[in-house]
Amino acid sequence: MTALEQEMRWSIAQEGPLSIERFMSLALGHPQYGYYMTRDPFGARGDFITAPEISQMFGELLGLWAAEVWAQIGRPPMVRLIELGPGRGTLMADALRALRSVPGFLQALEVHMVETSPVLTERQKSTLARSPVPISWHKDISEVPEGPAIIIANELFDALPVRHYVRTQRGWCERLIGLDADNQLIFGASTEVETTINTPAPLGEVLEISVEARLLMRTLAQRLQRHTGAVLAIDYGYTQTALGETLQALKGHQFVDVLSSIGEADLTTHVDFAALARAAKSVGANVFGPITQGEFLAQLGIEQRADGLKRRATESQCAEIDAALQRLTDPAPQYMGDLFKVIAVTSASLTALPAFPELEPQE
Ligand code: SAH
Repeated sequence: MTALEQEMRWSIAQEGPLSIERFMSLALGHPQYGYYMTRDPFGARGDFITAPEISQMFGELLGLWAAEVWAQIGRPPMVRLIELGPGRGTLMADALRALRSVPGFLQALEVHMVETSPVLTERQKSTLARSPVPISWHKDISEVPEGPAIIIANELFDALPVRHYVRTQRGWCERLIGLDADNQLIFGASTEVETTINTPAPLGEVLEISVEARLLMRTLAQRLQRHTGAVLAIDYGYTQTALGETLQALKGHQFVDVLSSIGEADLTTHVDFAALARAAKSVGANVFGPITQGEFLAQLGIEQRADGLKRRATESQCAEIDAALQRLTDPAPQYMGDLFKVIAVTSASLTALPAFPELEPQE
């Protein structure tokens, strides 16, 4: 049993069951034992690998996308490039390197990193030690000054805690984690009925609601509406809100039981892009996509970038570049091309955005 599980059992015994939201938030963010607070989870020897860690092309193309957005908002003399949940800082380092060829943008740029993990903040500081632009770090987006902004979040929304509701005889009840007769953690349901949910569903069905993700998207969209700019969110997820739950735990590149290895396994959910889009539209922002990661990177010219890199590469490096390209863009289910989706949210003043199809008519 992990130290965090011990602490959870004690807390449940004293104060009653934990919601899934609280459980996920503690497992990932407990100041002493939380998964992200204590380690660098990326890479072959870590628990999972993300797009910027697969290839430099990912961050480079996102950087160039940001420069195009800046041009589209009229090249303001000061713009903030904000990254939420920047991991090792690889995406930003690759983006800034690619942006050396866009000097006007670099001169206008201030970079702000929003990161809750002290371990990863240190890692980002060393990755970005030679940055050509000023960078500051924050624990929450509210600490970043307002103004024109381009905000990037790769695999951040999937780490935000969700709530689960279970369809019982009595109605929809919040799913909770309690203790069984042997003092083991066990899933159960609240005795109170959540009367605001009336989705029809068979008994035992679970509904997953990403309250924190929706609130964050709404906050970002409101910020853009007050100034100008765009948010780009990339994640593993689905495009239509649906019944069912997607909470999963990953350790050493393998799925493990959600209630095992608490604080030592990554916990994620698949992102409900339709819910994010509704949250942004509810405050009047424009929503582009979601489109697949494969389509998005193709629009940004990833094939040409790969060809460019291969011209200066050895045979084995060429094979690595091809493998990375396939992993990022191929639609087959073992790759990221279709599974990962990209959504952009902008101030209402922006009616076109690089790499995205035209805005869908408002319903
Ligand atoms: N974007 C990176 C890392 C993805 S993992 C990449 O693609 O490689 C999720 C990241 O979000 C980690 O850096 C984690 O520490 C951070 N994180 C988790 N919850 C957060 C929150 N509420 N606010 C800001 N960062 C958060």
